Amino acid sequence: NNRPTALIMIFGATGDLARRKLYPSLYRLFTKGKLDRFAVVGVARRSLTNEEFQDNVKESIGSHDHLDESKMDEFASKFYYHSHDVTDSESYSVLKGLAAELDSHYRLDGNRIFYLAMAPEFFGTIAEHLKKDGLTDVEGFKRLVIEKPFGHDLESAKVLNRQIRKAFPENEIYRIDHYLGKEMVQNIEVIRFANSIFEPLWNNRFISNIQITSSEVLGVEERGRYYETSGALRDMVQNHMLQMVALLAMEPPIRLTTEEIRSEKVRVFRALRTVEGSDVNSYFVRGQYGKGKINESDVPAYREQEMVDEASNTETFVAGKLMIDNFRWAGVPFYIRTGKRMEVKSTKIVVEFKEMPMDLYNRQEGSVSPNLLVIHIQPEEGITLHLNAKKGQHSGSTPVKLSYANKGIDGLNTPEAYEKLLYDCLRGDATNFTHWDEVALSWSFVDNISEVWENEKEASFPNYESGSMGPDAAEQLLEKDGFFWWPVT
Ligand code: NAD
Repeated sequence: NNRPTALIMIFGATGDLARRKLYPSLYRLFTKGKLDRFAVVGVARRSLTNEEFQDNVKESIGSHDHLDESKMDEFASKFYYHSHDVTDSESYSVLKGLAAELDSHYRLDGNRIFYLAMAPEFFGTIAEHLKKDGLTDVEGFKRLVIEKPFGHDLESAKVLNRQIRKAFPENEIYRIDHYLGKEMVQNIEVIRFANSIFEPLWNNRFISNIQITSSEVLGVEERGRYYETSGALRDMVQNHMLQMVALLAMEPPIRLTTEEIRSEKVRVFRALRTVEGSDVNSYFVRGQYGKGKINESDVPAYREQEMVDEASNTETFVAGKLMIDNFRWAGVPFYIRTGKRMEVKSTKIVVEFKEMPMDLYNRQEGSVSPNLLVIHIQPEEGITLHLNAKKGQHSGSTPVKLSYANKGIDGLNTPEAYEKLLYDCLRGDATNFTHWDEVALSWSFVDNISEVWENEKEASFPNYESGSMGPDAAEQLLEKDGFFWWPVT
């Protein structure tokens, strides 16, 4: 059904995520005519009237450019508010009554989406109450949408999973990894499997290495309290970075169904070489930003930020070398790096192809550089292919670029990740959500690394300047193998 009908219940309705992402995304779906009958119940601690809540929703939409505001009143009129304490059973009964009322008023066919946009310590409790207090006793579909982080390590992820699985079977659980909603991340599959000029080369015979960078210019801002318990490895590598690796490395699925794609991704995680013990520091580099300059102004070190321990060993940067021990990828390193307070905000994938068997041009003017396929994920979206060609008078070869910019084509913004993911969830398409098997395997990979880092008494932090591309050791990680990070600026 391409125009779904449902009651959407958002837990954490006054939070940052709801305001910045969920309301504008739902509004876009609404104005594009992609929603049939629906209503939204916002749930949060604060007490608000429906009118106040609707005003907040309109305000959050109004602050976005390019949104046609003419349908805002109609949209907001479908929003209801319930002030709620997530541990209180009575409050869930009230919520159940409200849901039933809206269900019959809007004829929502008993379809329900429960979106948990709250601190993760409540995920399990809410899921249990939803079942125990009868909110899931409906005829239609029930889906639980869960934000990150899904646990803190494998053990806590298992505990959380057991809790939510008591109330929802795996096929009703939609674990968000918003990178999987990004246009160019979804494009990895299309680039690979719809182009006969790439897939035959997509292996260790023709690719020398793959580099994935996701850098931010922002520091930890006001999220110090959360970040101190997390760090870049848990916040970025366990989920987003490993998901991109899986999409780049997976075998072609036999068809494009959720199950087939997921099982190919899971096989990549199973082939990922375990890095543990004394190997950790030769495969992985951690960093923490010191002070420095961003856009000419001075910015403080991580350890000086609010809610951050002044001797904190939390990493704000990780670089790593991943090996996928299967026939296709044996010997090809996948380098990843991610960090805060870096020189540029950029998420990019660079696929570096091997050199020609013989370089006929190296003694002539200009030299041959390796072919690169660059996938720009954000902020620009597109693909660049780096080739060598003859240019002008001289007979040597010169690097040239073929570029495709996604935005340049129709001048319109591509849909926001959250817009796509919400729509997928409403339609029951779980392809771009993370299955438990992926969560478990990626945690066990990451846990081996955090274990070593946490047992080393002290990291020599800070070890990179704000506004740089990370610690020197991240450069050396590639130099050891005869490579270097292709610039992402
Ligand atoms: P937030 O702190 O801004 O909002 C939390 C919400 O939870 C508020 O609406 C608050 O009223 C509600 N709440 C807290 N305690 C409650 C209780 N006991 N009973 C009822 N309601 C309660 O958080 P956020 O930034 O919106 O993040 C929500 C979730 O989304 C988190 O899991 C976070 O990791 C994830 N996430 C957020 C972003 C983002 O951009 N903000 C991005 C990715 C993932």
